[in-house]
Amino acid sequence: MRRIAIVGGGQAGLPLALGLLEKGYEVTVVTNREPDDIRRGKVMSSQCMFDASLQVERDLGLNQWEAECPTVDGIGLAIPHPERPGHKLIDWVARLDRPAQAVDQRIKMPAWMELFAARGGRLLIQDGGVAELELLAASHDLVLLAAGKGEVVKLFERDALRSRFDRPQRALALTYVHGMRPAPDHSRVAFNLIPGVGEYFVFPALTISGPCEIMVFEGVPGGPMDCWRDIKSPQEHLAQSLHILHSYLPWEAERCSAVELTDANGILAGSFAPTVRKPVLTLPSGRLVFGLGDAVVTNDPITGQGSNNATKACAVYLDAILAHGDATFTAEWMQRTFERFWDYAGAVVEWTNSMLLPPAPHLLKLLQAADHTPAIASTIANGFNHPPSLYPWWGDATACEAFIAAQPARAAA
Ligand SMILES: Cc1cc2nc3c(=O)[nH]c(=O)nc-3n(C[C@H](O)[C@H](O)[C@H](O)COP(=O)(O)OP(=O)(O)OC[C@H]3O[C@@H](n4cnc5c(N)ncnc54)[C@H](O)[C@@H]3O)c2cc1C
Repeated sequence: MRRIAIVGGGQAGLPLALGLLEKGYEVTVVTNREPDDIRRGKVMSSQCMFDASLQVERDLGLNQWEAECPTVDGIGLAIPHPERPGHKLIDWVARLDRPAQAVDQRIKMPAWMELFAARGGRLLIQDGGVAELELLAASHDLVLLAAGKGEVVKLFERDALRSRFDRPQRALALTYVHGMRPAPDHSRVAFNLIPGVGEYFVFPALTISGPCEIMVFEGVPGGPMDCWRDIKSPQEHLAQSLHILHSYLPWEAERCSAVELTDANGILAGSFAPTVRKPVLTLPSGRLVFGLGDAVVTNDPITGQGSNNATKACAVYLDAILAHGDATFTAEWMQRTFERFWDYAGAVVEWTNSMLLPPAPHLLKLLQAADHTPAIASTIANGFNHPPSLYPWWGDATACEAFIAAQPARAAA
């Protein structure tokens, strides 16, 4: 039986491990945190996943929280009016064809680790470095490194051609709360874009204490929303979150009159540079390691694609491993498998990066057109499920004009 090792038990590594186990492979997962350590630790993500990624989890039988987790039924966009405080320049909302969901990784990862061990997987709690990778590579047919943003992933060479940025583009913060007033009509990712300052989005999710709302702050570096460094306590973090809403987004502040933190660990602040890395690592022995998930494609969370990408990569890799049968896992096979994923992920990276830059004129026109053309709003909203569907027009002014002109105004109102 083929032996596969995966270093990193997260959104990419664990579904792959469980999928391979189900097909009869001998699977080792090496990861550096105990399940209870994760349960009792800080939140790690806002992890909103759209239908195509949720379907991968359903297909693997890993949708344990689907009935319990609140659904995210739409996407809304608001841009504050620059001259009329408290008013919106752009304000639209569109339904997703199928709902999204966000299950706190503090719930998911420990449960999947325990399921993996209960089904006969070999789970080792330890830090994986070069020495451990060498040992695994000597005793397994294939070693994958899926250690997220862990230091060890820097062993993969940065791909300068595919990495647009070399430094963080946003100061990030998460605030998990109970008691927020729901959005009107239907649930949504309520996305607010404050030009020159940053973005704020908020949506329902499931956390360890039940349904909640996750507030995500994306501050332009050096600007007024880059404001988390001196925060000393969870309560100060919550107060800072509310201060931002009162300052820039009064309609969002109104929803928050009764909010409280879900728990003292329901907060996070930090930053990282969006980076694409080359997916094949050659160890000193000459043996190979194949990168998966954030380890090789790290996106800024502004478009909520990291967990989605990790899951979709997992599906591509699982298919490729199964199809490879008993053949040797060569560097050429690894590169080819990664390129199959990149055929999809390239557009995700380009779209996400475009959101981090001041909007191109054609994109401003597009977002304004969506205000009075529901078909455009719907296409943009459903693009979160499959970002390549936004191309070529998202990236090309002429194609964008043609796309806007082709939409029936108000037809679906
Ligand atoms: C603020 C924020 C908000 C986000 N919001 C969203 C969102 O709404 N939607 C979305 O799709 N994505 C979102 N993401 C991104 C998403 O969380 C990640 O892209 C996703 O978790 C990546 O999965 P992964 O398995 O590659 O890495 P991870 O989930 O990070 O898993 C890596 C695992 O490897 C372990 N590890 C690390 N180093 C080692 C080592 N040396 N040895 C052994 N184990 C190791 C870690 O402990 C961890 O368990 C967000 C991220 C952030 C930071």
